[in-house]
Amino acid sequence: MKEIKQLLDNNKKWASRIEEADPAFFDTLSKQQTPDYLWIGCSDSRVPANQIVDLLPGDIFVHRNVANMVIHTDFNCLSVLQYAVDVLKVKHIIVCGHYGCGGVEAAMGEKQLGLIDNWLGHIKDVYQRHYNDLIALPENKRSARLCELNVKEQADNVRRTTIVKDAWARGQDLQIHSWIYSLKNGRITDLTDAGQ
Ligand code: ZN
Repeated sequence: MKEIKQLLDNNKKWASRIEEADPAFFDTLSKQQTPDYLWIGCSDSRVPANQIVDLLPGDIFVHRNVANMVIHTDFNCLSVLQYAVDVLKVKHIIVCGHYGCGGVEAAMGEKQLGLIDNWLGHIKDVYQRHYNDLIALPENKRSARLCELNVKEQADNVRRTTIVKDAWARGQDLQIHSWIYSLKNGRITDLTDAGQ
């Protein structure tokens, strides 16, 4: 119980700190959200969206799952995407992966982990598609490269949704970004191809 009480105490202190800096902060935010960004990231506890780009509540709409996947039959992710694009009219969709992703590393191995193996099957597909390139790398570089390839693949999946295609067809200002975060130094690298 002590651990949970700590969180509630932390919350009170955090809310007070925010109000001290801006007394109208919560009142203004409670009336509407107008984020410019949709973040699709990994569930990993070490990659918290708002914190690593230093944004406040209200600034970023967030969807996270194991290994930042965008699966065309995942109605959870698609619903977030549709609401972000059609209703909130975000200007940027950021797919952010991270090096050392447990989901990506598990997908490279043969070990059975249970239900999650079905989810990771989608990364195994990415692994198979790039197998020759990956296997040509030294073994200790393969995981990092697959983390990068997975981010780019998932960003492409975002681009291929009817939601994004329709938005672009009607001239909506919407950019898709592929980012990767380093757990070792807290820095993000932009992998987005030029012109995207
Ligand atoms: Zn991860």
